[in-house]
Amino acid sequence: MKYEWVTEEQKLKLLQEQDIMGVEWTNLEQKAWCLHCNRQFAGKDARVYRHRGDFLLECGTPNCDGSPLDWAAEPWWRPSAARQQVPPELGDLQGRGGERSCSK
Ligand SMILES: [Zn+2]
Repeated sequence: MKYEWVTEEQKLKLLQEQDIMGVEWTNLEQKAWCLHCNRQFAGKDARVYRHRGDFLLECGTPNCDGSPLDWAAEPWWRPSAARQQVPPELGDLQGRGGERSCSK
């Protein structure tokens, strides 16, 4: 794959134009999660390449070919990460509920 060099403004514009999943890029330091590699990357690390005259974006993680379709502000596909936001009391209830599966 041959990558293109674009200015920071161009890259931010491309990220915003191709933002399908609602990352809502405001700057290149902003990070998004990639479903493809299950990692977070900064907008500035996203790679740009050309396909039939169009500039397309690729995930900033090395060797990941994730596209804007795979990117999200929150890793919704990782329920365990989302649960970290749950208040302690609720987490406790969840722990009790899971007792049966925990006892071996
Ligand atoms: Zn990726």
